[in-house]
Amino acid sequence: MIDSTHDPKLTSWVLSANGHTDFPIQNLPLGLFSPTDEAPRPGTAIGGQIVEWQALVAAGLMQDSLTIEAVLATPALRKSLRRQLSKLLSDPQYREAAEPYLHAAADCTLHLPTRIGDYTDFYAGIHHAVTVGKLFRPDNPLLPNYKHVPIGYHGRASSIRPSGEPVIRPKGQTKAPEAETPSFGPSKRLDFELELGIWVGPGNDLGHPIDIATAADHIAGYCLLNDWSARDFQAWEYQPLGPFLAKNFMTTISPWIVTPEALAPFRLAQAPRPEGDPSPLPYLWDETAQAGGALKLSLEVWIETADMRAQNLPPFTLSHSEARHMYWTPAQLVTHHASNGCNLQTGDLLGTGTISGPTSDSAGSLLELSEGGKKPVSLPSNETRSFLEDGDALILSARAEADGYVSIGFGECRGRILPAA
Ligand code: MN
Repeated sequence: MIDSTHDPKLTSWVLSANGHTDFPIQNLPLGLFSPTDEAPRPGTAIGGQIVEWQALVAAGLMQDSLTIEAVLATPALRKSLRRQLSKLLSDPQYREAAEPYLHAAADCTLHLPTRIGDYTDFYAGIHHAVTVGKLFRPDNPLLPNYKHVPIGYHGRASSIRPSGEPVIRPKGQTKAPEAETPSFGPSKRLDFELELGIWVGPGNDLGHPIDIATAADHIAGYCLLNDWSARDFQAWEYQPLGPFLAKNFMTTISPWIVTPEALAPFRLAQAPRPEGDPSPLPYLWDETAQAGGALKLSLEVWIETADMRAQNLPPFTLSHSEARHMYWTPAQLVTHHASNGCNLQTGDLLGTGTISGPTSDSAGSLLELSEGGKKPVSLPSNETRSFLEDGDALILSARAEADGYVSIGFGECRGRILPAA
């Protein structure tokens, strides 16, 4: 899967792309954007600019008239688009013709890249599952199914929003352990969850499962995903049917779809399971899929409080983790989801679950970082946080790095908390 589009020597005539943290010419993510006061259209981020696909087609610079939906549904189109954009944006002979179809990203609005039909959130981060399990069940943190079955639940697609949209503090029902009756009001334990989003490309027909050996072909790309969580609602409502209003008030994603092609240099073998762990059942096991099943991606979480903004302090790193801490690979999540015949559809979004690392500074939620609120996190503004407060902005970022390749990023996944309405 490595080809000339990954060449570390390849540069763009869009000068801001060369050395760009997120969007050098080796990335070429897919997205939907609007230039100032104009209609949404598909495009690709290149450095600090966004290039419009349809205009390139109209100008005779690109072959296919493409919608995001078509590109997600058809891997051959996705790969062809990457080859064409790589050539157009690197070869100076196209500069004069293509340059009018670039827009400064700072002047554009980014939208959800497609209509999300269904959203499912998994629980594949084993360090998160153990740490959170300990808070709820000190003697029995990991339930007996965890190492056999990828745990997930069906989430809510309508409240998924692109980076930058504010998060209104949810109201809901809670019952403090010492209280006799529940009460209703703004969440006092509002949290984030550091996750990756997996975009479904080609779907499967109802009743026809996806073989683990071909599951990767059903993934069109990745994004960052913040599964905002009201822990006080969650603790009261989650039994016996799992997450509901504690999660579905909002989910923020980074709006660019980073393709499997862009991530090809950053594949890792899925780490062998620790001694004594069960082997996955055969329907979830494929030697080849395991060999490149994990992603070499470092993940960071930043916070910026209202006080920090007032004091001109930069955002503070709350945590850094790695995508390789997932117990199940994205391919295993896809195969498991469809294993009963459930039909995945183009544009569905799967969340991985919170990707915490094994150490206390690599936790992917405040629930873990503050040990359930018992050890508030200290910030450079002399504030502390057990959970998120109004005015706090939370920022997720991802970075893929490998020797001999130009590193790429995902762009921002940002949300600021507004007071309850
Ligand atoms: Mn989650």
